[in-house]
Amino acid sequence: MDLLALHNSPEAVAAKTLALHQAVLQGSGQIREGNFTRISNDDLARLFHLYDHHFFNGWLGKAVTEKAQGPLLFRLSRTMTRAGGKTIKTRRLTANGTWATHYEIAVASRMLFMTFNDVQRPVEVCGLICHDRLQALQRIMEHEIIHLVELLAWNTSSLSSRGSDWWAGSTASTTGPPSWSRARTAPGTRMGKPTASITCRCRG
Ligand SMILES: [Zn+2]
Repeated sequence: MDLLALHNSPEAVAAKTLALHQAVLQGSGQIREGNFTRISNDDLARLFHLYDHHFFNGWLGKAVTEKAQGPLLFRLSRTMTRAGGKTIKTRRLTANGTWATHYEIAVASRMLFMTFNDVQRPVEVCGLICHDRLQALQRIMEHEIIHLVELLAWNTSSLSSRGSDWWAGSTASTTGPPSWSRARTAPGTRMGKPTASITCRCRG
């Protein structure tokens, strides 16, 4: 797949991510409402695979299979408090002397559950306004997917690298996944100031 040729208009991104929001709620996992109160590692995997299917035609999963010695791992972390998510690549020496590579996406569950207790007040995640906990989770996953792609394709995980504007056709995004959600906020929606902000560690 030519990642640099991928392009999704802001309208297409908004439509697809909204559809994924609905798909998660209608799926078989523990997330049954926007401000869900339970979540499992399997829910993270399910969400990731929805994105992989709808935005990458399954390329992400295949690339992990080719480059790693095991499936992509998902982890909910109650102890992560400085970042909403984290994507890591690890290399370990195996008993037979070969190196094994693994990729993992971790999401800070405690941070998610500390927000959206007051649904009137939106929360900013990766620079984008979210209206419920599932939207926040989506923004975190989208951001971590960019890190994963960078690791898989360019063996780096820095949004200052070439990867920052390839996905959705944006040319100027420095605050979040490109054009993910400029069209995402419902027109006419009145919102107060965000009461909380969740970012990735890469944003300091
Ligand atoms: Zn980041």
